[in-house]
Amino acid sequence: MEVADNPVLYKLRHSLAHVLAQAVKQKYPSAKLGFGPPTDTGFFYDFDFGSDVLSESDLKDIEKSMKKIIRQKQSFERSDCKIADAVEKLSAVNEPYKVENAKSLADRGVESFSFYENGSFVDLCEGPHVGNTGDLADAAFKLDRIAGAYWLGNENNKMLTRIYALAFEKREELDDFLKRRQLAQKFDHKKLGKELDIYTQNDLVGKGLILWMPNGTIIRDEIEKYACETEFKYGYKRVATPHIAKADLYKRSQHLPAYKESMFPPMVIEEDGAEPTEYYLKPMNCPHHHLIFDARVRSYRELPIRLAEYGVNYRYEQSGELSGLIRVRCMTLNDAHIYLTHDQFKEEFRSLIKLYQEFYDTFKLTEYTFRLSIRGEENKDKFKGDDAMWTRGETLLAEVLDELGIKYYVGEGEGAFYGPKVDIQFKNLMGREETVSTIQVDYLSPVNFDLKYIDEHGAEQTPLILHRSPLSTHERFISFLMEYYGGAFPTWCAPVQVTMIPVNENCHEFANELKDRLRKDMIRVEIDTSANSFNKKIRTNTVRKIPNILIIGDREVAEKQVTIRRYGIEDQETLAVDDFVANLKSEISERKMLRKPMASIL
Ligand SMILES: [Zn+2]
Ligand SMILES: [Zn+2]
Repeated sequence: MEVADNPVLYKLRHSLAHVLAQAVKQKYPSAKLGFGPPTDTGFFYDFDFGSDVLSESDLKDIEKSMKKIIRQKQSFERSDCKIADAVEKLSAVNEPYKVENAKSLADRGVESFSFYENGSFVDLCEGPHVGNTGDLADAAFKLDRIAGAYWLGNENNKMLTRIYALAFEKREELDDFLKRRQLAQKFDHKKLGKELDIYTQNDLVGKGLILWMPNGTIIRDEIEKYACETEFKYGYKRVATPHIAKADLYKRSQHLPAYKESMFPPMVIEEDGAEPTEYYLKPMNCPHHHLIFDARVRSYRELPIRLAEYGVNYRYEQSGELSGLIRVRCMTLNDAHIYLTHDQFKEEFRSLIKLYQEFYDTFKLTEYTFRLSIRGEENKDKFKGDDAMWTRGETLLAEVLDELGIKYYVGEGEGAFYGPKVDIQFKNLMGREETVSTIQVDYLSPVNFDLKYIDEHGAEQTPLILHRSPLSTHERFISFLMEYYGGAFPTWCAPVQVTMIPVNENCHEFANELKDRLRKDMIRVEIDTSANSFNKKIRTNTVRKIPNILIIGDREVAEKQVTIRRYGIEDQETLAVDDFVANLKSEISERKMLRKPMASIL
């Protein structure tokens, strides 16, 4: 929850920030105070320590002084004054940053200033606070780390020292946060992506442009294969479209102007003495698919038409926002567009939800919430289309969600520029919500592209379009899965599905025969032929998170057996070779996951 929505937590964190500043001033009387606001996990305070240098090891001491102040139950007393008195008061205690802040508030029309005093400490502040510092006795807080921060966030200003703190109402909440953070660091997709050889980046290619290693490519291919098979079952037809198109296409689709700042700049092509033509890298697949729909006359009998493509899109994200696989400039989207009559909408939506749930079940994704993302009241001009269109779309989506008994909340201003959507939100390891899947309803594109079908009376009608991407982009989805699985992918999509460890030279022949047999079934198997000791082989293959490690010793060879260790499952098992192969094949073909995802053990 955001701290601004929780007045109790706000007061607690804000009051603790005062206590932190007070404790700092006790130990470093010449330190100057900057800002100290609450945050979504605690609070911070900025200080100018002058010539003193603060290190992380000093934080324990400061924490102790804070606890002492809390035990003294000092009450927070408010006093009000005008700007001249406020400046005088702050100058007298030699707080130049506070003086600057008071003056800039006065410039912005603030007339009355409030101060809060507890014990010997006074701060310019609007409140509110807890009654006295003793009310903080049960709070769980921890001074977390130190960072540099420019005064007012401006790099031309002095760099101050920021002390970050975590603060919660209860001990368990802090412990849970620390546990999650530790896991999030351990399972960070950027870290795992490197350790497990999943993807890389190179400055010669450019920022936000991912190079998928063989391991990552296997994961992509498996997910894509699974998506294609499932979508085939639900009546989708695959299409393929180029990565570039003329500016005119994106003018018609409204990407230019609505989306221009997120597109790569155009390539200008001059040929055969004709006028120069601008080409853009495609930011979305939609317009291309609309033209496939429009390639011939469509009868109502064909509808719904479901055109699917794992399409490659290019978005010019700001370089400061690029991060691992989460924000990239080239992405491959599990995309499809459904062209249908208005009457078919509800049934198709129901079928979509079923498809989404089938996907989530396979990936063992259990915790998600639905958000109805609408235009909202603010920044209406950023959204295209008229009021009637938006109202119709928003009402229709709400109705069908209600009919399906799906619980959802409304996200104001979260709609796409061409229409409202349903977003499916997943929590990441830190409990923060991420949009993984969407369904968007679009009344605008059929009009922009003048799309038609012939109804049962032979008359032209305008279809409705649904945009949908249950499995997001490969980049976003695989980074999410990596963190959710802690890097341990289930056998069906694991880069290496089986590693065999022959115990001695005599076992190699048996292992090689089994390897050939599994390879014929397209199973990704390898033999660990390194010079490592047996124990080290077990360790390194476990670190690689190989789902099935087979131990082949003399007894296994004699009895035609394998001993299998599954990742994340404690007990090893010895099976006849034929049973092992049969089990493995059904585990893969049915895309089973035999253990819980790492994140769900929280
Ligand atoms: Zn305050
Ligand atoms: Zn689309």
